[in-house]
Amino acid sequence: MALLVEKYGGTSVKNVTRVMEVAYNVRDRIKEGHQIVMVVSAPGGMTDELIERAKSINSNPRGRELDVLLSTGEQISIALMAMALENLGVKAISYTASQLGIITVGEHNSARIKEIHTEMVKRKLDEGYVVIVAGFQGVTPGGAVTTLGRGGSDTSAVALGAALGAREVDIYTDVDGVYSADPRIVEGAVKHSDISYEEMIEMAGSGAKVLHSRSVELAAKYGIDIHLRSSFNWREGTRIGEEKHMEKHVIRGIAATENLTKVSIEGRCLSLSDTIGAISRSGANIDVITHNYQRGRTEISCIIKEEYLDSALSAIETGEVSWRKELAKVSVIGLGVKSKGTAATVFDILSREGIEVEGVSCSEINISCIIPEEDVKRAQCALHKELIETE
Ligand code: ASP
Ligand code: MG
Repeated sequence: MALLVEKYGGTSVKNVTRVMEVAYNVRDRIKEGHQIVMVVSAPGGMTDELIERAKSINSNPRGRELDVLLSTGEQISIALMAMALENLGVKAISYTASQLGIITVGEHNSARIKEIHTEMVKRKLDEGYVVIVAGFQGVTPGGAVTTLGRGGSDTSAVALGAALGAREVDIYTDVDGVYSADPRIVEGAVKHSDISYEEMIEMAGSGAKVLHSRSVELAAKYGIDIHLRSSFNWREGTRIGEEKHMEKHVIRGIAATENLTKVSIEGRCLSLSDTIGAISRSGANIDVITHNYQRGRTEISCIIKEEYLDSALSAIETGEVSWRKELAKVSVIGLGVKSKGTAATVFDILSREGIEVEGVSCSEINISCIIPEEDVKRAQCALHKELIETE
């Protein structure tokens, strides 16, 4: 008998048919004698719809009341799932985060989990129940409902797994694992059977949308494996865990982010900290910063998401500002990036494709190039072909 912690994303519980399909599968595993804790997301699309409704009342909804609204989606899913299981003769009980005690700190709409009270879960498991917990939500010590940020149910599941001492958390979604590139774009993309925490965090941060990156950071902290898999075929997916490869010099993935803008500021006596500080206070996440100083003139540039351009422009107080829209970032990820010459090979591949590079950032396991958005698909295919398919 094992304790299974399983998270089901929005597409897995999108409608009554999907909820029933998941319930049948859970029933089969209960019959095998396992104990099951489920963490469930809102039905697919519902969180977006709730945000749209809020926006029709207030153009910039945020804070406490938005959390009260958004947390309702997950509450619908847990109740329906419990009813579906009961209908199949399986004892099941649902809990919101407030009922259970998933205590969060930090701001509304992006709260962080501080602790989870597990007594009730353990007692109900011992009494033979499937315990169904609402993902994405928490409660402040003062009793206010919070949410963890979009996609946060993955993090709820890993946090609950950690609190219960689980070694692995299954995350069920609509893709059957982590691929070496987006299979809709790159024909030769292959599914990984396993991938390291570090590589997954980089992939998630570079545009691969499969997992909430905080969930992977949390899994790494507690040494929990995440098994990312599909509830549409129930096959083995990808395990995210400690690095297992003997051969370290491999490149594991190509990822991309679109809708980026490069903002450049030029002037005399510009301060890097003041300029970058102003842009980040405007709410934009800043990537790939360059800083040039020549003959008394400074040029600072950085990459931000296009949606933050207006607020960034109004935050910059000094210097001449220019910008270039329609950029993308293509990233090459893997421990193999460390090996000598990989960056040069990446530039060579892009240059042979006639793709201009507007900026570069490198870390231990990630080489990212800023390129025109219109070239991003071609760049992913070319890099994948030469760096992954020929290895
Ligand atoms: N329902 C939330 C969202 O759509 C949380 C999640 O699905 O993980 O962002
Ligand atoms: Mg998700």
